Amino acid sequence: MHQETIALHGGYDGNEQGTMAVPIYQTTAYAFDSTEHAADLFALKDLGNIYTRLMNPTTDVLEKRFALMEEGAAAIATASGASAIFYAFANVAEAGDNILVAKQAYGGTTTLTGHTLKRFGIEARYFDIHDLDAMEQLIDARSKMIFFEVIPNPSVELTDIEKIAGIAAKHRILLCADNTVATPILCKPLTLGADVVVHSTSKYTTGQGLALGGVMVESQMILEKLADNPRYSHFTEPDESYHGLVYTEVGLPPFSLRARLALLRDFGATPSPFNSWLLIQGLETLALRMKQHSESALEVAKFLERHPKVKKVNYPGLTSSPDHVLCQKYFTEGMASGLLGFELESKEEAQRVADALKLFKLVVNIGDSKSIATHPASTTHQQLSEQELIGAGVTGGLIRLSIGLEHPADLMADLTQAIEG
Ligand SMILES: *Cc1c(COP(=O)(O)O)cnc(C)c1O
Repeated sequence: MHQETIALHGGYDGNEQGTMAVPIYQTTAYAFDSTEHAADLFALKDLGNIYTRLMNPTTDVLEKRFALMEEGAAAIATASGASAIFYAFANVAEAGDNILVAKQAYGGTTTLTGHTLKRFGIEARYFDIHDLDAMEQLIDARSKMIFFEVIPNPSVELTDIEKIAGIAAKHRILLCADNTVATPILCKPLTLGADVVVHSTSKYTTGQGLALGGVMVESQMILEKLADNPRYSHFTEPDESYHGLVYTEVGLPPFSLRARLALLRDFGATPSPFNSWLLIQGLETLALRMKQHSESALEVAKFLERHPKVKKVNYPGLTSSPDHVLCQKYFTEGMASGLLGFELESKEEAQRVADALKLFKLVVNIGDSKSIATHPASTTHQQLSEQELIGAGVTGGLIRLSIGLEHPADLMADLTQAIEG
């Protein structure tokens, strides 16, 4: 089936009441038929609802639909993108291990990996997405995951996904892609060799800036990397916290199973059923919106590229972009999403222009149907050191735009008055 169809029907085929819309199951817990039924559920002999921290029928539809859209085996929905990323790492790494993380990443991912995980004894080794040979040199026996963003927020530079996947395959190490900005409409990293995909669904998935959420999807091929692999002994050896369960031997998608049984159980960053429902509504129109976001962003990018006061425009959809070949190779119909960056002469000039925008709102978000401008150096990336800023591709003069669904002519008029004002 095509993704537009999956986005409308995946994971839900009606119920006894015949409701067309997926119902919101606003409940914390579920009644068992008997103590035996309860025991079977806890022992995984029967797969049913126990408690909403672990599973919920509304969230289940979101998870199934997302897994289908990413062509994965299973998905776990989380309360936010930040928790989905944390779960991806926490599912594989423990004190003494290391993870390889792209420097070109969301600011929150850099603080999570560089500071919070460090306090848990997990070391982040950063690599430049343009130097994958150097990345390979960072791998050792304690490396548990390679992590990158398909379209990095905010630098929007692309990397060669198949090349990273090749290195990950050679070392039998899990590859995780943050697909927040590209969305499954543009790119399906699991079909290009990634093992896990994470998303902040707070962005394009919800679409109208309505709900925070995250999702983690695993590949149908992940067992090939986990089975008999000493790197991942906690998947192949009995889990004492779950009466000796061996995740790779249950016959269920192992990465999601462990995330549900251990991480949702113990950390509990679970979405509310209402947010899951909002995200399902968002998915229904995602394909249409991504097409429009991409078309409008290309128009705005071309306009900025021609403007004499603009030093540089980062948008892989531009034919002049060094990443245009990768964009054509990896993204559906050359779409490049609504995220673009442009550079002005100085930090002061960027702040002046950002402050003068009227239709673009100054917001630390992306993927809304309303257009957004951000000055990363003073907001999302303020907590990063000078070195981390350079790594993330953030300069003082950089303004990030998330092009919404307004008419592009109105957006260009707003940019003109702000830049020339
Ligand atoms: C926003 C974002 C996150 C964090 O997601 P939240 O839903 O805000 O927790 C992670 N990665 C990328 C690429 C993002 O844009």
